Amino acid sequence: MEKILSCENLTKTYGKDGSFYALKNVSMHINKSELLVIVGTSGSGKSTLLNLLSGIDKCSKGAIYFNNQNITKFNEKKINNYIKNNIGFIYQSYNLINELTIYENILLTCNNKNDIDTILKKVNLLDKKNAYPKSLSGGEQQRVAIARALSKRFDILFCDEPTGALDSTNSEQILTLLENLVRKDGKTIVIVTHNNDICKIADRIYTMKNGQIIEEKVNETPASVKEIRW
Ligand code: ADP
Ligand code: MG
Repeated sequence: MEKILSCENLTKTYGKDGSFYALKNVSMHINKSELLVIVGTSGSGKSTLLNLLSGIDKCSKGAIYFNNQNITKFNEKKINNYIKNNIGFIYQSYNLINELTIYENILLTCNNKNDIDTILKKVNLLDKKNAYPKSLSGGEQQRVAIARALSKRFDILFCDEPTGALDSTNSEQILTLLENLVRKDGKTIVIVTHNNDICKIADRIYTMKNGQIIEEKVNETPASVKEIRW
């Protein structure tokens, strides 16, 4: 299995004396084309870890390797290029711009505007192309966020509680889209969640507690989303 990203002794402290450890000596890796789930209760450090791996936030200590380069040593220009070219991100709160239409939201980050219709079709939202985010349901807005992520090139798609604000029907739709991206298109996806059910669809699971990874599990036979009772 090819490792696409790894980190060693990743640590993030807060407080003026740096005495609070949001993340403490975390070492882990992401394999190419896997569906990796990071599970843990609220406050266990999941978002902190994701934000460091994706270059959005800076660590206090440790190293992150992407293509054999330590990204914690990157200057601002190089880290911005890393985020732009290699990373996709989906948040619990969708993060769409309400003043822009769905099409315009995607236009902001896409590499090729000729792809937008195809991508909107993929997430079944072509008919909402000229609508505004506020007129869409939560599930639809999250599908726009996925479309936006798909419209730009990335090597790893990080999803921070992507179904955290959704009911079970919408969660199932979102997870099915993410599952297909891995199983059919060979994408690499990391899902962070506090929901243990989502672990069933993962190839591999890290469990976090108090800023540390306390368990790694390999799932030889991941379930498909439709097999799971929510
Ligand atoms: P999770 O995503 O698992 O809920 P987080 O990574 O958001 O957890 O947070 C881990 C811990 O770090 C929590 O105790 C949280 O309160 C703390 N934390 C996160 N961000 C900050 C910050 N900017 N300042 C101080 N403490 C923070
Ligand atoms: Mg979080």
